Amino acid sequence: MMLNTLTPQPEDKILALMALYRDDPRDTKIDLGVGVYKDATGHTPIMRAIKAAEKQLWEAETTKSYTALSGDPAFGAAMKTMVLADSVDHARVGAIATPGGTGAIRQAFELMKLANRHGTVWTSNPTWPNHLSILKFMGLANKEYAYFDAATCTVDFDAMMASLKDVKAGDMVLLHGCCHNPTGANLTLDQYGLVADLILEKGAIALVDIAYQGFGDGLEEDAAATRLLATKLPEMLIAASCSKNFGIYRERTGCLMAMSETADNTPVTQGTLNFLNRQNYSFPPDHGARLVTMILGDATLKADWMAELEEVRLGMLGLRTQLADELRQQTNSDRFDFVAQHRGMFSRIGASPEEVLKIREEFGIYMVGDSRLNIAGLNAQTVPLLAHAVAKICR
Ligand code: PMP
Repeated sequence: MMLNTLTPQPEDKILALMALYRDDPRDTKIDLGVGVYKDATGHTPIMRAIKAAEKQLWEAETTKSYTALSGDPAFGAAMKTMVLADSVDHARVGAIATPGGTGAIRQAFELMKLANRHGTVWTSNPTWPNHLSILKFMGLANKEYAYFDAATCTVDFDAMMASLKDVKAGDMVLLHGCCHNPTGANLTLDQYGLVADLILEKGAIALVDIAYQGFGDGLEEDAAATRLLATKLPEMLIAASCSKNFGIYRERTGCLMAMSETADNTPVTQGTLNFLNRQNYSFPPDHGARLVTMILGDATLKADWMAELEEVRLGMLGLRTQLADELRQQTNSDRFDFVAQHRGMFSRIGASPEEVLKIREEFGIYMVGDSRLNIAGLNAQTVPLLAHAVAKICR
């Protein structure tokens, strides 16, 4: 007997919040919890280019036989171009398709376990909670580096660099490539450069988690930090997600890239990545990866995808500006101006857990307990309601 020995696992806070929201009978309720993009009507649309590619694929695809352990190499090549552009020689970079960005992160940690199982993985305080949960589950050592200054809701860069002084050779430093989740507060490009210098000096490896390319300052701009790190460091790992920027969450589309110092090492790197896919789930999912490859390889589809992604990005930026303005008026202060400076789908607004609870109970506005709110959960009509609730509750 085995199953009767199991004990309940800790519940995922964000998924629990989704259930609370669903059960709230108020028709004025607002969901700022889970991290999916929503348009002004609260719908998560299928992007036009995805629909068009799916139609083409349905007509042209002649087999559903296995692809390759790495996934279709054309997907890896397209992702290298999207994320790295020509910052480095692509021959130095191995790539595998993975089930979502989460799969890529998991495989990066598996690689760490294979290469240096006693090394420490450094994560920002705070970070996406699933980073911590997977590390714990895998039994890898984890340390946090200072990141977010709760008083100003900006990055405390001096504190970050001070804590990274303790990084040891062979450790892994996990950085968010853009649009930091959960805070929305990001390093400047110069600061990324200084972090790269430190990682180089320590002999550690960077893992860049890039899950929101195109949601912050633009498709190219959001990859600038990853590209800078790639030019400065001999080796690095990149876990890229296509869930948000292609809107294909449930298709589970991601890519792990591993850059070696020289191209001579790539066959072994690539072979190891393929091996890790084989051990964990064998062939990775293909449908989403194929759609992404088709879009990135077709000028018309790509132009339409980029145009729609830009609409999404500008929509969120507009909501940020509106929210910062409303908060300015309703609180008679500039203390929430950071909302307009933050980038990506989230902002941590610095409310206490009690205040978050009050906002939920009194106003039916659902944000995560750490006061992370999903900007895309708002629209022009609900921004003033949120600003009113925050002004009333957060003293
Ligand atoms: N990294 C970060 C920082 C994220 O926010 C997410 C999605 N919530 C992911 C990775 C992975 O997303 P997915 O597995 O859905 O592609």
